[in-house]
Amino acid sequence: MPAPYFGMFVAGERRPAHSGRSFAVHNPHDGALVAEVAEGDAADIDMAVYAAEQAAPAWAAMPGAERGDRMHRAAEILAKQMPELVDLEIAQIGRPRREMAAQLARLPEWFRYFGAVARTHEDAVPPFGGNFLDYTRRVPLGVVGHITPWNHPLLILTKKVAPSLAAGNAMVVKPSELAPITPLLLGDVLREAGVPDGVYNVVPGFGPTAGAALAAHPRIRKIDVTGGTPTGKAIGALAGGNLTRFSAELGGKAAVIVFPDVAIERAVAAALFASFIATGQTCIQGARLLVHRSIHDDVVRELVRRTNALRVGDPRDERTQVGPLVSARQRAIVERYVEIGLGEGATLAAGGRRPEGAGFDRGCYFLPTVFTNATPSMRIAQEEIFGPVVCVMPFEGEDEAIRIANGTQYGLAASVWTHDLARAHRVAHALECGVTWINDHHRIDPASPWGGFKMSGIGRENGLVAYEAYTQIRNVIVNLDDATFDWYADDGAGLRYS
Ligand code: NDP
Repeated sequence: MPAPYFGMFVAGERRPAHSGRSFAVHNPHDGALVAEVAEGDAADIDMAVYAAEQAAPAWAAMPGAERGDRMHRAAEILAKQMPELVDLEIAQIGRPRREMAAQLARLPEWFRYFGAVARTHEDAVPPFGGNFLDYTRRVPLGVVGHITPWNHPLLILTKKVAPSLAAGNAMVVKPSELAPITPLLLGDVLREAGVPDGVYNVVPGFGPTAGAALAAHPRIRKIDVTGGTPTGKAIGALAGGNLTRFSAELGGKAAVIVFPDVAIERAVAAALFASFIATGQTCIQGARLLVHRSIHDDVVRELVRRTNALRVGDPRDERTQVGPLVSARQRAIVERYVEIGLGEGATLAAGGRRPEGAGFDRGCYFLPTVFTNATPSMRIAQEEIFGPVVCVMPFEGEDEAIRIANGTQYGLAASVWTHDLARAHRVAHALECGVTWINDHHRIDPASPWGGFKMSGIGRENGLVAYEAYTQIRNVIVNLDDATFDWYADDGAGLRYS
């Protein structure tokens, strides 16, 4: 049976790219062809922007409550389509079923939360001096652009789409070429929910062509990207040329900081969860495990035992705990970093190689990997690997833990593990990062702001701040005095200084 073909999603229709070109999406588990997808370029982006411009005014003019109702409908439809979407996400990116099912089950929450914001958001009446009424109204930006990665194809897209819709914008999406199918299908969900054609458009394609055309498009009012830090800088430079608003969720090198009052089993469960979910391919991966020296050796022993016991395999299987990496290219990057780590003198305590056996022959598999004897300045402890590799490092005191945790160019996330309340908050306040968990990792909620300090990004997803960042303020100042105000009157009666 030939692989299915997916066209672009523009103005509510599936269309081939104007060039007629398409590209293949392969399954990282076995290399099978999942689908052929239309390959859009600058001309297709331009057409999608035009379609969005046609749709934007009516969507913007619709009362927020009505937009909110349609977003709630989208949440319900999405929930019903979960099984198909889960299967497709697994086929595109190879993440285990237990992870994809858990992650996608939460997507409706974003449409409900931001739908509720669309319905309830209140504008402000600033205290303007004198006999004036001042009020502000948040109005949409117009047409916005979303450039998204492959590691959480629908979750990351939803984090951008839901506030954009709530605020009344129309949008053009350029998904990763590795995972464009579910973003295309979201178009069908929104259409069925009553989101007008042209409000949500998807142009699959490659970063340097379709992505760059979107980022540089002069009629796009905001670009919101999730990707690597070099990609974010390149897109930000293009957006800056048009004074386009810019928001970016970029790379990370999260620290998991374990103080000595934490039980060994709890510390190890935390580290496994932080480091190996999504085969380590998350921006908030616990890439650096900082353990108090007094429990370091016990934690390492148990971590190595549990890491070696993780069930690596076919992501479709409910029992699989670790799937393949997304592509051969991503695995080559991870393998290169393992070589670098060994060259730097770190000790390979677990993994560090491909698994053996017939089931792994054609997939992009790599074993969960633990490095010990790593030091904070090593490249494996500084650079984002984006794979299942964790560097374990001991620390003596709180200050040293904070210094190591803050000692990279990144500042996205960290977790602090301790029962000492004062210490937990003290450390959280000293960490240079946008998201800190205390006694947890990876948790996310549509209401809770998400984004990075330093080279991990600009702006925030989630929460009211994300909604507001998809609006602009219209400020209306009303003179409540009916008397004529004549600045130029000869008697000087109109003179005033405010
Ligand atoms: P990339 O940076 O390679 O790509 C992200 C998106 O940008 C893709 O759609 C890509 O297109 C596009 N792109 C690439 N180059 C350009 C360009 N010059 N102009 C316009 N668009 C471009 O990231 P990955 O997809 O490999 O995802 C992994 C990265 O994402 C990691 O560094 C990770 O840390 C980061 N990330 C950050 C998150 C956060 O919340 N902070 C969450 C998840 C991931 P294409 O690839 O199709 O060519």
